Amino acid sequence: MNKTATEDRREAAGAPADSAPSHFIRNIVAQDLKENKNGGRVHTRFPPEPNGYLHIGHAKSICLNFGLAAEFGGFCNLRFDDTNPSKEDIEYVESIKSDVRWLGFDWGEKEYFASDYFEQLYRYALQLIEGGSAYVCDLTADQIREYRGTLTEPGKNSPFRARSVEENLDLFQRMRAGEFADGARTLRARIDMASPNLNLRDPVMYRILHAAHHRTGDRWRIYPTYDFAHGQSDSIEGITHSICTLEFEDHRPLYDWFLDRLGIHHPQQIEFARLNLTHTVLSKRKLLQLVKDGHVAGWDDPRMPTLAGIRRRGYTADAIRTFCERIGVAKRNSTVDIAMLEHSVREDLNLRAPRVMAVLRPLRVVITNYPEDRVEELEAVNNPEDPNMGTRKVSFSRVLYIEQEDFREDPPKGFFRLAPGREARLRYAYIVKCEEFVKDPKTGAVVELRCTYDPESKSGAARSGRKVKATLHWVSAAHAIEAEVRLYDHLFAAENPDDVQEGVDWTSGINPKSLETLTSCRVEPILAGAAPGNRYQFERLGYFSVDTVDSSDRRLVFNRTVTLRDSWAKIEKAQKK
Ligand code: ATP
Ligand code: MG
Repeated sequence: MNKTATEDRREAAGAPADSAPSHFIRNIVAQDLKENKNGGRVHTRFPPEPNGYLHIGHAKSICLNFGLAAEFGGFCNLRFDDTNPSKEDIEYVESIKSDVRWLGFDWGEKEYFASDYFEQLYRYALQLIEGGSAYVCDLTADQIREYRGTLTEPGKNSPFRARSVEENLDLFQRMRAGEFADGARTLRARIDMASPNLNLRDPVMYRILHAAHHRTGDRWRIYPTYDFAHGQSDSIEGITHSICTLEFEDHRPLYDWFLDRLGIHHPQQIEFARLNLTHTVLSKRKLLQLVKDGHVAGWDDPRMPTLAGIRRRGYTADAIRTFCERIGVAKRNSTVDIAMLEHSVREDLNLRAPRVMAVLRPLRVVITNYPEDRVEELEAVNNPEDPNMGTRKVSFSRVLYIEQEDFREDPPKGFFRLAPGREARLRYAYIVKCEEFVKDPKTGAVVELRCTYDPESKSGAARSGRKVKATLHWVSAAHAIEAEVRLYDHLFAAENPDDVQEGVDWTSGINPKSLETLTSCRVEPILAGAAPGNRYQFERLGYFSVDTVDSSDRRLVFNRTVTLRDSWAKIEKAQKK
C-alpha cells in the first residue's frame, strides 16, 4: 500500500510511532480519525496571549498540541490571541516564539494572530446584530456586573437590550469610528440573563479602547473580548481539536452559541487539567508582578518557572518534554511535586553533562609531605555514563582546596569525611590524613588543614585498594580558577504559595534564601572560557550551567541547575527534626 500524505508528514515530524503514552485526548483524536471525522484531518493550535513569558504549564500545552499534530500527521498552529492591547507587547511575541522553538517544536508557516482576524470578527459581529443576537449596551462595567446577578440569583435585562437592529448597527459602527469614550458602550450577545451559566448572561463581545495595538496600530478603537475572539479564531483556522484548560469548560456553551449562530466551522473543544507545581506560581499575572516589583531579576531569572528562566538555569528541552509526557493529561486538577521536574532534569543531565571538580566554599589544605615544586597530572573520567566522552588531566600539587563542609573538628556520628586524625580519599588522587588544623584566631573558623598523603595510595595503582569511607573532590590551588556560583532554592518555601490566609499578600511567601551567591569558588582550569549555556556536573555537588547573561571570559558565572541527591544532607535534616 502506498503511504498517504499524512503518514509522510508523520514521519517527517519524527512522530513516535506507538511509544507515546495514551491519554483521553489522544484516544478522542484517534477515534475521530478512525471515523474519518473532519475528513481525516487533525489540526490543533497553541494559542498564547502575548502578555507575558511562557512558563512550564504552557510547555504542557505545547507538548500536547504539537505532539498530537505530529503523532497523527496533522498541523499545529502557533496563534497569538492578541485581543487586549493594553497588556500585550511585541517583546512577549518574540519570547514566546523563541521558547516554543527551543522546546523543539516547529510551526512552519502556521503563525497566526487573532488581530489578523479583527476585520472578519467585526463582520461576524455585524452578522449577529443583524440577526438580532447582539446589541449595543450603555451600561457601565459596574452596572453590567450588578445586572448580571449571581450563581443563586438570575440577572436583569439591560434597558438597552431591546434596541432596534438599525440603532445597534449605527452605534456599533460609530463605536468603531472612535466616536465614544473608553467604557461608554459595549457590544453584548443577546442570550439569556437568567441562564444558570453566568457566561451566557449577555456577555460582552466588544469594548471601546482607545489604545494602540502592537500589530494593528491605531486602526481600531474597539477590541473583541477573548470570549468572542477565541472560538471564532479557531474556526477561521479550521482547527479540528481545540484543546484548552478546564476553566474554559463553562465557556464552551458560549463558544458553541456563537459558532451555531454564525453557522461556521465548529472545532471540538476538549478541556484538560492545567499543570500546577509545588513551590511556585504559574499565573502570568503573578509572574508579571514578581518581575515588575523586583522580587526577581527578570522574566529569565533562573528561579522563575518560565521557560526563559529554567533554560537559563540549565534545564534542557529534552528534560522538559520528558517531564510533560510523564505527568500525563487528566481531567481533574492536581499539583505535581516540583521534585518530579527536577528528577527529569537530573536524569537527562546525568547522561550528557561532563564531570568536573569545583569547590564552592574553599578550605585550604597543605599536604606537608608532598614536594613543594611537584605537580602530577592525574587522569580523570569525563563521564562514567558515557566512555565516549573520554578523560582529561587534572593537576595535583602540595596546596589544594577542598570543601569546608568536608571537614569537621568534632565529627558527628555517621560523618566519614575528614576530621582530626581521619583519612579520606581525594578523587583520582591519594588518600590523605588530617594531622592538624589551623583556626583563625579572631573568628574561630577553620582556615587550613595540614595533611599527609600516602604515596602508595594513588588511584588505580597497585595498593590503591585500601578502603576509606569518603572520597572528596578538590582542586589544586595553583591551578584552579575563580568563579561565581549562584545557588538556587525554591522561589517559595511553602508547597502551595497561592494558599495564603486572608489579608496576607502572596508575595510574603517568597523564600528569602532562594538565591545564594558564592563569589570565591574555585574550579578546574579546564572551565576557563566555558561557553555560556554549557552544562557540567560538579562532582558531588550537582549540575551547573554557565550563565548566559552574566558570565564572560573575565568572570565565570555558574548557575546551579539542580543538586545531586545528597544523602548526608537528608540524614542531617532528619536528625534535626
Ligand atoms: P493566566 O496565567 O493568566 O491564566 P494563561 O496561562 O491562560 O493565563 P494563555 O496565554 O492564554 O495564558 O495560555 C496559552 C495556552 O496555554 C492556553 O491554551 C492555556 O490553556 C494553556 N495553559 C496555560 N497555563 C497552563 C498550565 N498551567 N497548564 C497547562 N496549560 C496551560
Ligand atoms: Mg488564557
